[in-house]
Amino acid sequence: MLMKSTIQYLAVFFLLSVSAIAKTENQEAHVHGLATLTLALENEILEIQLESPAANLIGFEHKASSPEEKQTIKHAKTLLLSPAFSFNGTNCKPEQATVDISEVMGNAHDHHHDHDHYHHSEDHSDSSHSEITASYQFSCKDGKKLHSISVALFKQFPGIEKIKTVWITETRQGSEMLFPNRNTISLR
Ligand SMILES: [Zn+2]
Repeated sequence: MLMKSTIQYLAVFFLLSVSAIAKTENQEAHVHGLATLTLALENEILEIQLESPAANLIGFEHKASSPEEKQTIKHAKTLLLSPAFSFNGTNCKPEQATVDISEVMGNAHDHHHDHDHYHHSEDHSDSSHSEITASYQFSCKDGKKLHSISVALFKQFPGIEKIKTVWITETRQGSEMLFPNRNTISLR
């Protein structure tokens, strides 16, 4: 009985820590060239969240209006849906991947034809910066054996110059900056 409540306490503590990390990340400034990765490993489940200015991934941040821009976004989404992570120490297989492109994909230009041009320019100033986010869930065969994660995002998206990573496991947490020539997160 005592054992069980201790575990429950630890589980609540763990979840609070993860949301505290996520909150800190969200408050950070939107800086072109910089992306953030938040990782949480609990037993077999690894959750990864990528947050990036859209400019890093597609080269622009306004709502796509031309077919070419929409195609660029679709291509980026396809790349993001197949996770760019490799795992060292154990096997992790992808369970879920979602990509949020709503800030750049839409029909913002289609419904203003009966308004004057002043409204148009107001609309543009609204959306001067946009983010793209992706969330992943993996199941790792023996989570304790996962000692590092390599990130291939730099190759896929040359617009990403550095990635701030924040990670937490049951026993440790850390933060480090990744670069194209230093793209591995050590968890142990
Ligand atoms: Zn921006």
